[in-house]
Amino acid sequence: MPNNLKKAALKILIRLGVYKLIALILKRYSGFPIWTNLEIDIQASCNRDCEFCPRFLDRSGVRKDEHGKQILTKMSSDKVYNLIDQAHKLGFKGKIKLHRLSESLLDKRYVEFAEYIKLKGLRLLENTNGDVLKKNDALCAKLDGLIEHLTIGLYDYKNEREKQEEMAYWRSKFKKTEVAFSLPPDNCTIRQGSKVYFEVLKNPQALELPCTQPYRMILIRYDGNVSLCCEDDGCHFDLGNAFEQSIQEIWWSYKHIKIARTLEKQGGRHKFERCSRCYNGQKKVNLLEEGV
Ligand code: SF4
Repeated sequence: MPNNLKKAALKILIRLGVYKLIALILKRYSGFPIWTNLEIDIQASCNRDCEFCPRFLDRSGVRKDEHGKQILTKMSSDKVYNLIDQAHKLGFKGKIKLHRLSESLLDKRYVEFAEYIKLKGLRLLENTNGDVLKKNDALCAKLDGLIEHLTIGLYDYKNEREKQEEMAYWRSKFKKTEVAFSLPPDNCTIRQGSKVYFEVLKNPQALELPCTQPYRMILIRYDGNVSLCCEDDGCHFDLGNAFEQSIQEIWWSYKHIKIARTLEKQGGRHKFERCSRCYNGQKKVNLLEEGV
């Protein structure tokens, strides 16, 4: 069926409430659990352009346009609150992050969303490159304790001493929030869309690994489209749009459950084109040693 006809048919089914009904049945009888990680991409941009990041080579109009210029747009506040409310109503008690392939602290609304998440009794975890926080001690103080766990990317160190100095600096800024670090220079994940993906040695055995990301994560991009996993910023699996359907309908859809159950088995990656070249799960690589 041509794509525009498919979309029209989908809209009719959504309007008729067919997906709502299927989700209710599958939620009750399929045994498929609620996600453990919810990511809401409150805005699209990032102030960095890292070679190991899947947004690096994007020219699709999702993160960058055809000329490589950044897409600058935000999810409206009412949509962000609505998604948090939906998760809360479903009894979700896991982790929320307010980014996808983006730097959420660039968004001035961050603190208000963080306070709302805390008020709802939910857990806010975050990843950041730290650049906004480095220039803003008052913001560090405001977020200390509001964010339960903060992973800070250290991207610029050249040796062990510089790495340790950066870590000590961040530990001194946060007393209540648990701080961890991601260290791409010596411990980098190979991700599709990055420049690094094409430059480092990949282990073919990784393509046989089961993948449980679709079981664990619901990832909502700034435009409402839902990604299957952290490698699917393009939302290539067409799971649905959280501005048009409830997240309950998308999560407990027949399509999503079927994909997740296929991928949890060894060899499942070969059933899907994007998964069949995904090395997620293989041992991380040392870029300093590989000379990338
Ligand atoms: S195997 Fe598929 S579902 Fe799993 S991370 Fe890779 S692209 Fe995503």
